[in-house]
Amino acid sequence: MASNKKLLVLPGDGIGPEVMREVRRVVDWFDKRQAVRFDLEEDLVGGAAIDAHGVPLADATMEKAMNVDAVLLGAVGGPQWDNLDFNIKPERGLLRLRKEMELFANLRPALCFDALVDASTLKPEIVSGLDIMIVRELTGGVYFGEPRGIEELPSGERRGINTQVYTTSEIKRVAAVAFDLARKRDNRVCSVEKANVMESGVLWRDEVTKLHDAEFKDVELSHMYADNCSMQLVRAPKQFDVIVTDNLFGDMLSDTAAMLTGSLGMLPSASLGDIDETGRRKAMYEPVHGSAPDIAGEDKANPLATLLSFAMMLRYSFDLGEDADLIETAVKNVLNEGKRTGDIVAPGATMVSTTGMGDAVLSALDHLAA
Ligand code: NAD
Repeated sequence: MASNKKLLVLPGDGIGPEVMREVRRVVDWFDKRQAVRFDLEEDLVGGAAIDAHGVPLADATMEKAMNVDAVLLGAVGGPQWDNLDFNIKPERGLLRLRKEMELFANLRPALCFDALVDASTLKPEIVSGLDIMIVRELTGGVYFGEPRGIEELPSGERRGINTQVYTTSEIKRVAAVAFDLARKRDNRVCSVEKANVMESGVLWRDEVTKLHDAEFKDVELSHMYADNCSMQLVRAPKQFDVIVTDNLFGDMLSDTAAMLTGSLGMLPSASLGDIDETGRRKAMYEPVHGSAPDIAGEDKANPLATLLSFAMMLRYSFDLGEDADLIETAVKNVLNEGKRTGDIVAPGATMVSTTGMGDAVLSALDHLAA
């Protein structure tokens, strides 16, 4: 049997602990039923860590995150910590994890479950069967480029400056993640920039093409300008398989793609770093949604985004595609049975609680494995 996978679970704040509780039941299910086993440790992040340690991520927790196979995070934040100094706000815990683990590739799938096709604002035929993946560069580009700042000009006017900057290695490592992913999917990558007006875009296109020709010839590569891509995403999103793009364009395009599927409670994500000398790639998996303080503690939250994040972990950190498929099929079956949490409930569906959704997924898994 393969060695145990080491997981650090950080439930966080608000609905984080509630949704994570249901995911842990599924982890236990895999522990008992499948060949894969997990050594799981739980710790604090965000407001919960501020209350316990005075900081949004303790050094000891950071140390653990650096030494596990993957991190699974719930959500951070809440009104009780809103007035804290910027440097110790709950979100800083998340940022520290991303920075110190050097998670440079953010993966945001947009998958439309047939049962939820009506939750999208687009016509069913446009989104039905949709399955695309946006790979966003996460640690470079205009959000981090220097020089930056606001300066006073001699004329008395003020000038705001940000710098869009990318190096060859930054482009190549995120493009390699996209090509690798494509090989596990429909084998197509669309690289997105604005090479028509930005030098950094010219370099981006050049380096992606070079890497493709040298190492990923078997993957179909196309290029698209970011403005066109935003139109194509709402016009005909199914034309895409994997989209790879920079930090700024990825921020916007991944949110557009997310809304094609209708609900925040269904959206998983992964952030990946480099592969170290032991062959392990640093990785953190988390739902796209926040801590939803408006429904926290009421057993109403949808646990599926976090569960689907765990499925991404099985697929991308552990190469356990069949086990990931099992979870995704169980989710699909539960939705087809008409079981819905409040955020995705529709006429004729049965409303279930967070725990009820966990029960339904576990029974669907039992059924699939029988
Ligand atoms: P949010 O995502 O927490 O909630 C937005 C709306 O969606 C709310 O009405 C909420 O009830 C609903 N919702 C979200 N997730 C849901 C789920 N799983 N099931 C059912 N309904 C769900 O965003 P917000 O209200 O803007 O932010 C609340 C807090 O979360 C803030 O403190 C914010 O800073 C934080 N936040 C954290 C993250 C993160 O941890 N990655 C991301 C976004 C926001």
